[in-house]
Amino acid sequence: MSRLAVAVRAAVVSASAVGAAVYWTGFRPRSQIFGSFPYEIETEEKVVALTFDDGPNEPYTSRLLDTLDAHQVKATFFQVGRCAQRFPSTTRRLVQSGHVLGNHSYSHSFTSYLKQPRQEIEISRSQEVFYSVAGVTPTLYRPPWLCHWPWVLTSLRQHGLQVVSGTFVHPLEIFQPAAISLTNSAARLAQPGAILIFHDGREARGGLRDQSVAAVGPLIDRLVDRGYRFTTVDRLLGVSPYTV
Ligand SMILES: [Zn+2]
Repeated sequence: MSRLAVAVRAAVVSASAVGAAVYWTGFRPRSQIFGSFPYEIETEEKVVALTFDDGPNEPYTSRLLDTLDAHQVKATFFQVGRCAQRFPSTTRRLVQSGHVLGNHSYSHSFTSYLKQPRQEIEISRSQEVFYSVAGVTPTLYRPPWLCHWPWVLTSLRQHGLQVVSGTFVHPLEIFQPAAISLTNSAARLAQPGAILIFHDGREARGGLRDQSVAAVGPLIDRLVDRGYRFTTVDRLLGVSPYTV
């Protein structure tokens, strides 16, 4: 290979490495490089926010609500618009019982994030669904896969939405390892001001969530024993949960 070819090749390799780094940075839960992407708050108070993504998904979301209500714990649900159309009464119930509804896109489609116009539709269409099924317009938005590329953050700001990240309770939670390992992992990751991420669905496709549901009651008991209380993300971040 000529010297020029070697130099060109090196330049291409390093450009794609930079591209890959930028790409992955846009998904890392704690990366703040493109703008504020809150995953916790700084506090010494023993308070955590439990959050549930990708629902509603029955019967799991209702079981979860039963567990939370029995423990008198309020949580934040980042729901998918299309799923709320499938189970509108579940979305209505959680809002009526004092849990907080956040937006998690309309279709949870990856390709929607590649282009600005489709992303806009994902935001506004799901807001319309939430208003029609539950009478509220959420202020909180958690992008699918925590994708926070610059144009995603820009359009959320334009819609007056507060972007929310968090800490995944277990790297494999989406694949449903035993509830006990989810509880153990979540309890280990809980710290003052943390926003913990569970899933009561899987993207917009529903699916089995027994282990996640079973992990939550024991987690609450364990954290209460350690002196924790639970709050919702809007309260943790000091914003109002709905614009309407
Ligand atoms: Zn999701």
